[in-house]
Amino acid sequence: MTLSVPAPLVPPARVLLGPGPSDVAPSVLRALAAPTVGHLDPYFLGVMDEVRAMLRAVFGTKNTITMPMSGTGSAGMETLFVNLIEPGDRVLVGVHGVFGGRMAEVARRCGAEVVTVSAPWGREIDADAMRAAAKGQRFDAIAMVHAETSTGVLTPLAPFRALADELGALFLVDAVTSLGGVPIDVDAHGVDAIYSGTQKCLSCPPGLAPVSLSERAMAKLKSRKIRPQSWYLDLELIGSYWGSERAYHHTAPINMLYGIHEALRLALEEGLDARFARHARHAKALAAGLQALGLELPVPEGSRLPPLTLVAIPEGIEDAPVRKALLQRYGIEIGGGLGDFKGRAWRIGLMGSGSTPRNVLLCLGALHGTLAAMGWKAKGDPIAAAIALLG
Ligand SMILES: *Cc1c(COP(=O)(O)O)cnc(C)c1O
Repeated sequence: MTLSVPAPLVPPARVLLGPGPSDVAPSVLRALAAPTVGHLDPYFLGVMDEVRAMLRAVFGTKNTITMPMSGTGSAGMETLFVNLIEPGDRVLVGVHGVFGGRMAEVARRCGAEVVTVSAPWGREIDADAMRAAAKGQRFDAIAMVHAETSTGVLTPLAPFRALADELGALFLVDAVTSLGGVPIDVDAHGVDAIYSGTQKCLSCPPGLAPVSLSERAMAKLKSRKIRPQSWYLDLELIGSYWGSERAYHHTAPINMLYGIHEALRLALEEGLDARFARHARHAKALAAGLQALGLELPVPEGSRLPPLTLVAIPEGIEDAPVRKALLQRYGIEIGGGLGDFKGRAWRIGLMGSGSTPRNVLLCLGALHGTLAAMGWKAKGDPIAAAIALLG
C-alpha cells in the first residue's frame, strides 16, 4: 500500500467567538514556536518558576501547590477529584449546566457518594438549596462551577465558602472560563481547590489545566488511606517535579509552557482589573447590539458571564444554517447550545484577546447580515447600540 503524503496544513484564520478555544494572541503563537529544550534544562526550570509565580498572581493565591497540569480543563477537574476524594467520601455538587454534571460524574467515578442539587439552566446555583439538601448529612466536599460555559452564567463564590464552613467540607471550584476573564480571588474566597484551562480567557491553545490547592486540601491529600488511583494526575508526585526536588515524573509539554508563560505575562501586563473591565465592557456592548437586533438573552442581567453570552434562537430561525453562514461567509465561529439549550440558543464568546471592540462589531454585523438574509427584521441598529457602550 502506498500512502499519498498529504500537503502541509494551512489552517484557515478563523475568528473564534465560541465557548473556546478562543483567539490565540499572536505573541502566544510565537512563544509556542520557540526551540524545545529539555524538561530538566536549567533554562526550563526558570520558565516553570515564572509560570508558577504568574499563575498564583492570576488566581489570587499564595498556595504552594499551584501549577498547570498536562491536559485540558477536564484533566484539571479529574486532578481535583482523584486526589481529594476517596472511595466512600460524600460530595455535594451544584449542577446548572453541562460542567456541573461532569463534575458529579467524575466524583462518582472516584467512588464518592454524590448528591447533586440542580438549578434551572440559565440561572445561578443556589447555595441555600444546597444547604437545605445537605441538612443533617455529612459532606467531605462541595463543588460548583464558577462560570458555566454551557449557559453563560456566573455564580458568586462567597455563599459557597460559608456553606463549606458549616459542613466542615472542602470547597472545590471549576474556574475554566473565569480565570483571566472575571475576578476569582482564590484566597479571599477561601477556595480549597480550583482548576482552569488555557483555551478560554487566557487565550492560549488547549493543552494545560492550571490548578491550585490550599493547605487544607493538601492536608486531606496527605491523610488519604490509599494513594490516588491515577498515577499520572497524582499531585504529590507532580508536586515533587514542580517543587525543589525537580524529580522526573512525566515529560512536561515544554512548548505549551512557553505558551502559557506568554499568556499569563500578557494578562498581568494588561493588569487584571483592566482585563476584567474590558471583558465586562465588551459583553455589555454585545448584549445591547443583540437586543437591538431583536434577540433575547435568556440569562438575567445580574447573572451574565461576561466572557460568554447566551442568545435565544428566535422562532422561525434555524440554528445550523446560521452558524454555517457565519463560518463560511465571515470566518466566524460561534457556539451552538448544549444540553437543555441544544438547538435553542447560541453561545457567543468574547474571551481573552478575542474580547475586542472589533470582534463585537464584526459579530453583530455578520449576525445581522445572516439573519436579514433569512427574513429577520432587526428592531433597531445593533452596531449603533454597541458603539454607544464601547466608549
Ligand atoms: C471548557 C470547560 C471545561 C472542560 O475543559 P476542556 O478543556 O474542554 O477539557 C470544564 N469546565 C468548564 C466550565 C468549561 O468551560
